[in-house]
Amino acid sequence: MAKYVYDFTEGDRNQKDLLGGKGANLAEMTNLGLPVPPGFTITSEACRRYLAEGSVPEGLDQEVAGHLEALEAQMGRKLGQAGDPLLVSVRSGAKFSMPGMMETVLNIGLNDESVHGLAKQAGGNDRFAWDSYRRLIQMFGKTVLGIDGDLFERALDTLKGRRQDTDLDAGELQGLVETYKGIVREQTGKDFPADPREQMRLAVMAVFDSWNAPRAILYRRQERIPADLGTAVNIMAMVFGNYGNDSGTGVAFTRDPGSGQQGIYGDYLQNAQGEDVVAGIRNTIPLEGLESIDRHSYDELLRIMEVLENHYRDLCDIEFTIERGKLWMLQTRVGKRTAAAAFRIATQLVDQGLITMDEAVTRVTGDQLAQLMFPRFDSGAPKKKIAKGMNASPGAAVGKVVFSSERAVELADQGEDVILVRRETNPDDLSGMIAAKGVLTSRGGKTSHAAVVARGMGKTCVCGAEELEVHTAERRFTAPGGVTVSEGDVVSIDGTTGEIYLGEVPVVDSAVVEYFEGAAEPRDDLVRAVDRLMRHADEARRLGIRANADTPEDAARARRFGGEGIGLCRTEHMFLGERRQLVEDLVLATTDEARQQALDALEPLQKADFIGIFQAMDGAPVTIRLIDPPLHEFLPDIVDLSIKAATDTATDKDRRLLAAVKRLHEQNPMLGLRGVRLGLVIPGLFAMQVRAIAQAAKEVPGAKPEIMIPLVAAVQELEAVREEAVRILAETGVEALVGTMIEVPRAALTAGRIAEAAEFFSFGTNDLTQMAWGFSRDDVESAFFSRYLDLGIFGVSPFESLDEEGVGRLVRIAAEEGRAARPDLHLGICGEHGGDPASIHFCHDVGLDYVSCSPFRIPVARLEAGRAALIDTDSDTR
Ligand code: PEP
Ligand code: MG
Repeated sequence: MAKYVYDFTEGDRNQKDLLGGKGANLAEMTNLGLPVPPGFTITSEACRRYLAEGSVPEGLDQEVAGHLEALEAQMGRKLGQAGDPLLVSVRSGAKFSMPGMMETVLNIGLNDESVHGLAKQAGGNDRFAWDSYRRLIQMFGKTVLGIDGDLFERALDTLKGRRQDTDLDAGELQGLVETYKGIVREQTGKDFPADPREQMRLAVMAVFDSWNAPRAILYRRQERIPADLGTAVNIMAMVFGNYGNDSGTGVAFTRDPGSGQQGIYGDYLQNAQGEDVVAGIRNTIPLEGLESIDRHSYDELLRIMEVLENHYRDLCDIEFTIERGKLWMLQTRVGKRTAAAAFRIATQLVDQGLITMDEAVTRVTGDQLAQLMFPRFDSGAPKKKIAKGMNASPGAAVGKVVFSSERAVELADQGEDVILVRRETNPDDLSGMIAAKGVLTSRGGKTSHAAVVARGMGKTCVCGAEELEVHTAERRFTAPGGVTVSEGDVVSIDGTTGEIYLGEVPVVDSAVVEYFEGAAEPRDDLVRAVDRLMRHADEARRLGIRANADTPEDAARARRFGGEGIGLCRTEHMFLGERRQLVEDLVLATTDEARQQALDALEPLQKADFIGIFQAMDGAPVTIRLIDPPLHEFLPDIVDLSIKAATDTATDKDRRLLAAVKRLHEQNPMLGLRGVRLGLVIPGLFAMQVRAIAQAAKEVPGAKPEIMIPLVAAVQELEAVREEAVRILAETGVEALVGTMIEVPRAALTAGRIAEAAEFFSFGTNDLTQMAWGFSRDDVESAFFSRYLDLGIFGVSPFESLDEEGVGRLVRIAAEEGRAARPDLHLGICGEHGGDPASIHFCHDVGLDYVSCSPFRIPVARLEAGRAALIDTDSDTR
């Protein structure tokens, strides 16, 4: 029978799949001999079964009961026992951290009897016992019974008035418990469950269910976390931070997760339980302040932080509680960090001798590098600073102020940039945070919900700007000096410094971009870290990196960013603008002579285009794709033309053009007369392009052209155009590879045959995805993908990240069969997937020779190609 429950002494940190991140790390800390309250973990497998079957899997209840009895024996107390109760916490913990997205219930085991036993345990501290009890009903009511949390909050606020929650006395809290029980009765028609085991069982199911809460689903989609993992559940003996001022709770980081600087970072809250810190209920003190409150616990905490960092060899974040002077570890994990911190920390750990350079490269991601390439505010521009908060997540964001998530989504849908301003955010604000360019809060520290979630998303965030008074209902906030900012006013927020400006501040490129542009030697330590890691990734990678570029400017940038060639030079744009006229002549030509005349006029123009690109690439290979889209895209709009042709001033050409446009009209142009088909139907078109390429190559010493035929489905198509191309190249005495795109499923499936006529393949995964799924590239994403994502049909758009199961299979077949037929076949990819991290890893695994992506994406591709070579494909490094 399946084993669904593991004691903390049984697991280890490598069991995240089964025990979730929290459970696996609690087990690891237990095994390290650190002070972890005893407990056990219900596996994510149990959750998956529960969600699939709609009921608790067979045997789970008995297993939990067995572990609970062992826990009771160890603690010498029984769950919820009247005179001397054991209390437990029930906490979620998935494989990948989803901060605040799922449920937690503390103080399970309290009821009208055991509350007195708890007071006795606490040396007659009635206040503490009633406070714990009201917290249980509040948390349980909200998360397990689904009651609106505001009802409890309001009752608490009414009782507090202008006081702090710690000012409430035992009698008042006892009264509050009665009020809360009344709320439960009113809202559910039932009494709050007094049976401790029933409380625990319901809480476990609520944690299971919270896996599918809307905010959790949204978060997973954003973070690309698979929908079918489920969450583990951790049941742990309670320790109390709310005993009094000799107790408290806090979070700590072994390094600054914002900048990566070494030091002591964290927040501490005296006389409080864990949730109070993250929720920003009272203002926390910086962790250093603990030293003067409780020197012994502080020293112990620093010692444990060092143990954990050396053990995990990475930045760890920690949740801890001090119960009457005794320190307890409630959680640790390798902590989330900003992109800048990730690069700095990776190189610091190398310098400390904790990790190798190989490992350091796997510790940073292409997405993080992309974040560092975001723009920042122009330091020379005039600015009106109105306040300063905490620099919670870096970047420069400008937008119209909104005060609710709904409004943020609404305006963002209309194409507006918005800044979401809240007193503090909670998990329900996720949709607004996703929609906004930046997030600004007036309360909460660097570990508040807003800060943690924004950092995870790479979204600019300034939090805890206490000088601001946010009046949500009135949709305005005020800043010192009589400044009032209302909904719709523009502000600029700097997540790197925490500064808040009124109006729009101009933004400039990042220092990392300047470094890639080759502007200067690495100046600051961040750029130096990027430089070291990029160099190492370049040494490690097996994949070549090319660019999709079709102008000399793009080609030059591609070169500066480290591109080793052009993998896709589209030639379509070269037929636009003033040259449309010549295309019209080509379409209207009724004789061979007229057609040739039009082509002859185009040839020198094309030649000049190619010269520019060859020069910019300075001897690196340039794959030029012959013209692809349907011809009518280059002709006037049919409606305009019909109107014009019907007027008295219409010329003969107008009428002939209209007839041609009508003749060329297609119901499905993406599946019509384009690519190689066009080349076969219009004699001389491809020949003109090949001649222009050859002539250009002759004029640029060292030029290395490669000629690529698009949309080939059958080898016969390729043979027909290849023959002509090879002849022209021979006549001009220019050497060039001739190859094809693989972007039609039939081509992938007959790749062995096609390779006989191709010296290289480049996978056009945009079209390949379109045709493999039968999804129109231009329409489906906005039309119905959100429904598909909701249904979990895929976790991310297949146009964004290569669908390995289907489209990837076509790529694999084509690569294998192509190479079997022609061992030196050169293989690359030039669809958008060439710049997508997950797809780059796939390309590495399949054995392609290079990926090609937009010039700005090249650094990301270099880094990810290096990581792909260094990461053991079985490991969890993301
Ligand atoms: C492709 O289809 O993947 C491709 C690169 O070509 P295009 O996007 O120009 O159709
Ligand atoms: Mg294509």
